[in-house]
Parts: sequence; structure tokens; C-alpha cells
Amino acid sequence: MTETEEKVNQARELIESASHVVVLTGAGISSESGVPTFRGQEGLWQNFRPEELATPEAFWKDPKLVWEWYDWRRNAVKDAKPNPGHYALAELENNLENLTLITQNIDGLHQMAGSSNVTEMHGNLWQIRCTKCGDIEQNFEVPLGELPPRCKKCGEIGRPNVVWFGEMIEMSLIDSVLKAIEECQVMLIIGTSGVVEPAASMGLVAKQANKPVIEINLDETPSAGLYDIVIREKSGEILPLLFTSNRTLS
Ligand code: NAD
Ligand code: ZN
Repeated sequence: MTETEEKVNQARELIESASHVVVLTGAGISSESGVPTFRGQEGLWQNFRPEELATPEAFWKDPKLVWEWYDWRRNAVKDAKPNPGHYALAELENNLENLTLITQNIDGLHQMAGSSNVTEMHGNLWQIRCTKCGDIEQNFEVPLGELPPRCKKCGEIGRPNVVWFGEMIEMSLIDSVLKAIEECQVMLIIGTSGVVEPAASMGLVAKQANKPVIEINLDETPSAGLYDIVIREKSGEILPLLFTSNRTLS
């Protein structure tokens, strides 16, 4: 048995004996669907780093520029289809008493794969929020017309309904995630670089509460040393082995 096969078996046993599993996903789970991650080279757009664009300061300095980037990101996601990793998690939801699925992604691919209960920590790429009246519009137009888009209700500038660097995530959302971690029997952390808070600390919270943590990520991450099972493979290849009948590695 290879080392990966052994780890997959251990992870599967942990998951099979659990009634409540918490899963945290990041950009890595969507990379096999062709959606660029932030940390990979392909995450760069016109030589800007995401940290220079995904902030309120950048938006108010140049709303058109920031919207051009979001328009490009919407275009990158528009034709993307969920991959076997997303589908495996949707199947897990059906086969488990209690699954808490939290994502940092804003691409909507978990829902497209059939997951019905998804906590989107960082909002959604397909929503525009008015900067004045707060109205939220669902909008799937690609490319968007005139940038920045205007609110249909009051005419003010709209912004992507996402959480930017330096912005707060609703406290009630964080509380419910912490409660789920407290109550679960195992946590999975998939395709997240572990450098963006508060998601970065969630694995540590689970470890403090003595929960086994399984990480699936292609690369090294800052807290991997604390986790129980670390699988350095593609999530689209590993996740189907963890929860479906297709359980032998090729
Ligand atoms: P990140 O880009 O910082 O890190 C992605 C991680 O995924 C890396 O550690 C990489 O090693 C790993 N990875 C890449 N391909 C993988 C694969 N096939 N299988 C397993 N792991 C793989 O992303 P992040 O940690 O989610 O955090 C950054 C922020 O980026 C978040 O706020 C998120 O909202 C935003 N973001 C979202 C999307 C999206 O919605 N799809 C895309 C890019 C960035
Ligand atoms: Zn408005």
C-alpha cells in the first residue's frame, strides 16, 4: 500500500465513524475546474496582486479598475463546471447526519454540484451590492455593461458582494462555524493556503478542541504540522476516494 493509500484509508475511517463533519474549502478545490487561485501565478491579473485590488481602499480609489478585475474573474468562472471534489462533497451531505460546509470561495461551484447547505464566508461573485442603500442584485451578465454598475433602486455605485481584505465577516457567521467545530467529530481543510484569516485559524480551533483534522492540499501550509492526516494530492482526485463507492487509487 502506498503512503497516500494508507492516509486515504485512515481518513475514510475517521469520516465513516463520524456523524458530524466540518469541511472548509478554499480556492484550491476549484482549480481543477479551471478557476484561478490567488497564490498561483495565474492568479495575477495585469500584474496586480489580489491584495492590491480586493480592498475597500482600492475600490474607492478606482472602482472601474476593481470592477474590471471582477468582470475578468466572473468571466473565468462563467463556464466552469464543478469537478469530482465538489461532487463528492455534495454526496457526503446526502450520506451524513450533519455536514457543515464552509467555503472561502465566491464561485458558487459547491451549489452547482448539488450541495444545498453552503456557508459562503466571503460572499458571492454573482451578487452586486449597492454602496448606498445596500440592495443586493443577483447578476449573471458577463461581461458587465458600463463599469462600475449602478444600483437599480437608487442609482448609486454597486460593489461586488464579497468580503475584501480588511473587512469584517459577520460575527454570527463566525460564531456558528466555531460552534460547528466544537460539535463535530472530524474536520477537513481542503485547498486553502491557510494565510487568510479567520479561516486560517479554524484548523487550530479544531485542534484545541481535540478534533482530528485532515488536510488536502497540493502544497505545504503553515499549520500542517499540527494536523492528523495531511494528503498532498489534488482534491478532485482524493475526495471521491473518501466518500464514494469508488475507493481504489489508480
Ligand atoms: P489561495 O489561492 O490562497 O490558495 C489555494 C490553495 O489551494 C493553495 O494552498 C494551493 O496549494 C492549493 N491547491 C491548488 N490546487 C489544488 C488542488 N487541485 N487540490 C488541492 N489543493 C490545491 O486560496 P484561499 O486559501 O482560498 O484564500 C484566498 C482567498 O481567495 C479567499 O478569500 C477566496 O475568497 C479567494 N478566492 C476565491 C476563488 C474562488 O472562488 N474560486 C478563487 C481565487 C481566490
Ligand atoms: Zn441603491
